[in-house]
Amino acid sequence: MEEWQEGEIIENIKWTSNLASLKIKANIMPHQAGQFTRIGLMINDELVTRSYSYASSPQDELLEIIYINIPNGVLSPKLHQMKKGDKIQVMKQAIGYFTLDEVPDGENLWMLATGTALGVFLSLLKTPLPWKRFEKIVLVHGVRYQNELIYQDLIEELKKQYPNQLIYIRSVTREKAVNSFNYRIPRGIELKEFQNYADIEINGSSQFMLCGNPEMIKETSAALSSFGLKKNRRTSPGNITVERYWT
Ligand code: NAP
Repeated sequence: MEEWQEGEIIENIKWTSNLASLKIKANIMPHQAGQFTRIGLMINDELVTRSYSYASSPQDELLEIIYINIPNGVLSPKLHQMKKGDKIQVMKQAIGYFTLDEVPDGENLWMLATGTALGVFLSLLKTPLPWKRFEKIVLVHGVRYQNELIYQDLIEELKKQYPNQLIYIRSVTREKAVNSFNYRIPRGIELKEFQNYADIEINGSSQFMLCGNPEMIKETSAALSSFGLKKNRRTSPGNITVERYWT
């Protein structure tokens, strides 16, 4: 049974007119980086809930999620109006298996995210484990517009902390942006542009974690299969671990 806990909004960070992050203080159970939670509000006497990945890492004091305000949506416009001190319902226990212990060993770890799915990778990257397990980590963030390239300060900090390990690739698809590619993620891989930039070949020692747009996941998985990689399943380990995220 799902157990709920009242949390308090500490900050509602507005990155763009509709892209935002919530920081919430709540007495919840510890989570593992890569997991998600549900948050909810009472709307017309009904608890309306949605799933969000933790962008915060297990050692962070506050729970942090990234969300998109869909103006005609049910929950997100209410989230968008929330202010410091407002109350929100949070699921006590985290869920999900998009964690590093589900990913086999390899030389390089590629983290491919579109849009708000960046958060789950920030949660993972803020923990010591990926840096211990992989020689290089390539974080690829695909967005429509350059102002959706969020958490630049944190990514800069990680680059300083792991200068020989982290490669950060930005790809903006609907406008030209500086220091960014202009490809959808599968295209950047097919053309080997991302591999050339990272100076890393994709082969059997590459591990991939994919999260975000379901079509991106489908098309990227197909692109990766042309490099001989297959889905990672508990019963038959492989190189591509996916999180369905939203449908
Ligand atoms: P998105 O639509 O998934 O776009 C993020 C990135 O994924 C873009 O670079 C996009 O490229 C790419 N992409 C889309 N389809 C793909 C495919 N088949 N293969 C590979 N890459 C693909 O995500 P989002 O902008 O974060 O929005 C998520 C959802 O929220 C969408 O349903 C959107 O309508 C809704 N929404 C978003 C905003 C916002 O501020 N971003 C506001 C309101 C509502 P393209 O640019 O080429 O499509």
